[in-house]
Amino acid sequence: MHSDVTQFDLTAPASLQAVLKHLAAEPGTHTPIAGGTELMVALGAGRLQQRSLLSIQHLHELRFIRVEDEAIHIGSGTTFTDVRRSAEIAKHLPLLVQSASWTGSVANQNRATIGGNICNASPAADTPPALLAYGASVTLVSASGERTMRYIDFHLGYKKTALRPDELLHTIHVPLHFAGYRQYIRKVGTRNAQAISKIALAGLAKIEDQRLVDIRLGAASLTDRPVRCFATEDALRNRLLAPESLEETIRAARAALASETHAIDDIRSTARYRSAVAGNLVEEFLRSLVP
Ligand SMILES: Cc1cc2nc3c(=O)[nH]c(=O)nc-3n(C[C@H](O)[C@H](O)[C@H](O)COP(=O)(O)OP(=O)(O)OC[C@H]3O[C@@H](n4cnc5c(N)ncnc54)[C@H](O)[C@@H]3O)c2cc1C
Repeated sequence: MHSDVTQFDLTAPASLQAVLKHLAAEPGTHTPIAGGTELMVALGAGRLQQRSLLSIQHLHELRFIRVEDEAIHIGSGTTFTDVRRSAEIAKHLPLLVQSASWTGSVANQNRATIGGNICNASPAADTPPALLAYGASVTLVSASGERTMRYIDFHLGYKKTALRPDELLHTIHVPLHFAGYRQYIRKVGTRNAQAISKIALAGLAKIEDQRLVDIRLGAASLTDRPVRCFATEDALRNRLLAPESLEETIRAARAALASETHAIDDIRSTARYRSAVAGNLVEEFLRSLVP
């Protein structure tokens, strides 16, 4: 059933502090709206419960890309187009640029924010695999202060996050520790463009003397939330990446991935397909690492 828009209020407080005050005064009453590319679909479909929308789209305090020695800090209100156009992000975090370029259409990317992509907490969102592989952390703000946590702890389940009703996601911090890592990302959907993923994988690998000294794998659309595949990483770390041992390495990776993840069935795909294709992607990444 479609919503009647006249039943909704939209307030656009002038500053971040004013937004946080609203959230603190009536926690759980207001829905923050950034680009609105998720929320307007939910509103149109009659799935939006709260009738009060609090715009954060215009807040310059949330729209920035700041590069420091150890990390890149990205404001939650940064759009996908901002991400795609940032030379610094392209230089240091190519997986993030690639995933931003996959999100919807260009028109969508002009409005959609990285914060909205994360806070919407869809297991199929495009940026989480890269952010998980890069080991991002996030800062949440409220009228009473701020807290920073590992991004991996932010997702608590299907459409569930660690955000309290009086909090906003403020900044995503991505460490710059990955110079010299081989980087991989792939999204599998119904089409190459404008499709939500059926499965997506981002990977980073550090190789020294043909040995896989570090590997980091982030996946979307595999389980009820974006996941880091720690057991698979453990099964692969310190393995020799030589042609003669590659098949055994791939078998070990596939087995570890299947046992650590419980793939989901939903409207876009089946658990069986997801599990098989996730294994294929890990295999593709591993094969690309062998000379
Ligand atoms: C045609 C179309 C195609 C799409 N294709 C893709 C795709 O390929 N891949 C993909 O991943 N997504 C896709 N999307 C979904 C959507 O565009 C993205 O998830 C986008 O990043 C959402 O950002 P937004 O700023 O528009 O979020 P909004 O719709 O404004 O908000 C989404 C949710 O996040 C919350 N929120 C937003 N910002 C904050 C914040 N700073 N703090 C706390 N909560 C916040 C809102 O309250 C809401 O619950 C598509 C959407 C459409 C309409």
